Amino acid sequence: MTKWVYSFGGGSADGRADMKNLLGGKGANLAEMASLGLPVPPGLTITTEVCTYYYDNGRQYPAELEAQVNDALKAVEASVGAKFGDSDNPLLVSVRSGARVSMPGMMDTVLNLGLNDETVQGLARNSGNERFAWDSYRRFIQMYSDVVLGVDHYHFEELIEIHKEEKGVDLDTDLDADDWRELAGKFKAKTEEELGRPFPLDVKEQLWGAIGAVFGSWRIERAKVYRKLNNIPEAWGTAVNVQAMVFGNMGETSATGVAFTRDPSTGENEYYGEYLINAQGEDVVAGIRTPQNLTKRAREKAGATAPSMEESMPDVYGQLADVFAKLEKHYRDMQDIEFTVQNGKLWMLQTRAGKRTAKAALKIAVEMVAEGLIDEETAVMRVEPGALDQLLHPTLDPDAPRDILTRGLPASPGAASGIVVFDADTAEEKAKAGEAVILCRIETSPEDIHGMHAAKGILTARGGMTSHAAVVARGMGRPCVSGAGQIRIDGKAGVMTCMGREIKAGDIITIDGGSGEVMIGEVKTLQPELAGDFASLMVWADKYRKLKVRTNADTPTDTSAAREFGAEGIGLCRTEHMFFEGERIIAVRQMILAEDLKGRKEALAKLLPMQKGDFEEIFKIMRGLPVTIRLLDPPLHEFLPREDDEFEDVANAIGMDVKKLKQRANELHEFNPMLGHRGCRLGITYPEIYEMQARAIFEAALAVEADTGETVVPEIMIPLVATESELAILRGKVEAVAEEVFAEKGAKVDYMVGTMIELPRAAIAANKIANSADFFSFGTNDLTQTAIGISRDDAGRFLDQYVKMDIFAQDPFVSIDIDGVGELVKLGAERGRSTKADLKLGICGEHGGDPASVEFCHNVGLDYVSCSPFRVPIARLAAAQAALKDR
Ligand code: PEP
Ligand code: MG
Repeated sequence: MTKWVYSFGGGSADGRADMKNLLGGKGANLAEMASLGLPVPPGLTITTEVCTYYYDNGRQYPAELEAQVNDALKAVEASVGAKFGDSDNPLLVSVRSGARVSMPGMMDTVLNLGLNDETVQGLARNSGNERFAWDSYRRFIQMYSDVVLGVDHYHFEELIEIHKEEKGVDLDTDLDADDWRELAGKFKAKTEEELGRPFPLDVKEQLWGAIGAVFGSWRIERAKVYRKLNNIPEAWGTAVNVQAMVFGNMGETSATGVAFTRDPSTGENEYYGEYLINAQGEDVVAGIRTPQNLTKRAREKAGATAPSMEESMPDVYGQLADVFAKLEKHYRDMQDIEFTVQNGKLWMLQTRAGKRTAKAALKIAVEMVAEGLIDEETAVMRVEPGALDQLLHPTLDPDAPRDILTRGLPASPGAASGIVVFDADTAEEKAKAGEAVILCRIETSPEDIHGMHAAKGILTARGGMTSHAAVVARGMGRPCVSGAGQIRIDGKAGVMTCMGREIKAGDIITIDGGSGEVMIGEVKTLQPELAGDFASLMVWADKYRKLKVRTNADTPTDTSAAREFGAEGIGLCRTEHMFFEGERIIAVRQMILAEDLKGRKEALAKLLPMQKGDFEEIFKIMRGLPVTIRLLDPPLHEFLPREDDEFEDVANAIGMDVKKLKQRANELHEFNPMLGHRGCRLGITYPEIYEMQARAIFEAALAVEADTGETVVPEIMIPLVATESELAILRGKVEAVAEEVFAEKGAKVDYMVGTMIELPRAAIAANKIANSADFFSFGTNDLTQTAIGISRDDAGRFLDQYVKMDIFAQDPFVSIDIDGVGELVKLGAERGRSTKADLKLGICGEHGGDPASVEFCHNVGLDYVSCSPFRVPIARLAAAQAALKDR
């Protein structure tokens, strides 16, 4: 018989930490903590296989499930010494979701389940606290109605507000047992009014309703969105955890809290957390009351007056610190913990690897190696390559003048400026239109995810460091300032106020998620520091990776930046970008508009020294590292003006008649320029262009060798080749120029001639093309465009929807389409190497900086990836992880 239910508690468990696929993260770790002898309230986990079964069988459960749940529940009853549904001594449970990986705020939780009009009396008697019992009951009705029955929680908030007004009090804490009893009655009536049927008082019905709601919530919209953003497969499903309740709201010796064993923002090796006295579960996360610090040190740092847990509950704090130490040693990773203190006794409700900023991930990984907790390989695997992006982001220039509006909590590091928007939809809209936006909310909820993703930064008026906004922003790597309590946001009116100042939607602000500062206007930023932990991790990554990492760069500034980031050469220098600079565009236009070969050659002669100068500079910066220079690629009309008034200026600049200029531009017009007269087709029809470029390259290489004494080995790359003869012809021309230059100068350099593989035909005919190539570089931008038949420039109009509908798992221009475009790369690599075993293979499309694509490149045996300078560290780490996974 299939085991659908796993028990835990009382010092033992059926499950283990490595059973996350079956028990979900929460269930597996609860089992592990129970086995470790930590104080875990007993409970049971219904497996993710039940979720799969449920959806595969028209939302029916397996036949044996009910009996297994009943048996496991009996064990919980025995362990706690209470009975589910018993009016004298009721067992209450929580019901929570738990997928393999945590999905913050995505899935639903019900607390205090098992309360009804009778059991609430039992709870009141046993706890000796009537107010607590009725407060728990009304919380249950509220939560169950919202999460399971779909009655929005504001209905209940409203009833509380009205009740307080009638009683003339401000705070929930001013309400007593009778108030909560009365409200519980009103809550039930409200639910009945909304649903047309009574609130369920049968505890078994409550339990199965909650279990069904957890499974049902796997497929609600916001969970789907979260999975999409985080690449979590739909098929995984969630587990359900049913666990005996412990109460943090039993009075002044009770509390609830969340904690990290190290600081999740900075990575500092000190406990970090928040707690609330006399509060229950979600109060901390929800950001309704502002929580207090866990440690004295953190409280002092924050300048807070409310006592830390270390000060107010020293005994329990001591127990907690012991648990932290045990858990870190056991899991060998920073843990994110939820706990409850019930009448002075500590209970652990959850542990999991804590989410952290990239900065913290780095620091923790590097320090844990030094502490002997983990080895270098583990450290390399611990840092998500994409997250390095956060570290490579700018911070505020400390000397830049700033007009500080207010200060909130430094929830997620990085500085960002942008226009103020007050809702997620507008944030998404404006971001799509190319604007930098700062999403400003009272607090965020899972419905805001898309807006948070689109925003450059997030600012909230309420909520702590573990609020939704803080957790999600850190995960996404967005700068975030949370809990900026002096700000009053009126989203409807499109304005926020702070200490008498007013900021309207559309005004520019800057936030610093590292300090918590909020500033009016834009503040100058600085580039990040790449020493310290970052450097250590990179050294380890470089030890394990097999792929080389080059950069796509065509200016001295980019080239220098890429060197600092560790680029081991240039994989793509797009020469056309050089054509736009300063006065050169005039000569370029003269070349394009020339009526004959003589005219073209005259213009090219003007370009030659400029190109040569560019190449010299790049060769010098790269100091002997390989440099791949691609000969001219785009269709020529891209260099001509588009607007009418521009035509006049250009005609004047090059001394040509406007009419004639327009006529020539018209001649060059193409219906499908991406498939037109571009790439090597230009080289075939106007060989003098490529000849000039080849000459500039060779002359520059010779000059730099003579100057610096370092060897320069230029790699000349011919774009958009489809056939062997194209490459053979152009290779011949390049070789002829080389001979000419070498003869003139009386000196030689080694060089290579290769091609981009960016057309399906080239991949298929790679064995033939390889005859004339010393190297291949896969141009996966064009290869994606031509293999799938979608325009690079226009696909935005429908790609979003394609990704939403799962037609593509991801934008194929961002992460390589492994099944299609990837197959062509694989084929091209295999066929190329079947002709020349030592053919050098690289990739220079945008995919070269995408971690999943880098792993793919490792797996198909490429020699290097090439990506934009800022992504070089990401590629280095991704390459190391791919190699380690491959061992
Ligand atoms: C490519 O097509 O992948 C490539 C690198 O070239 P470009 O983006 O310049 O067309
Ligand atoms: Mg291309």
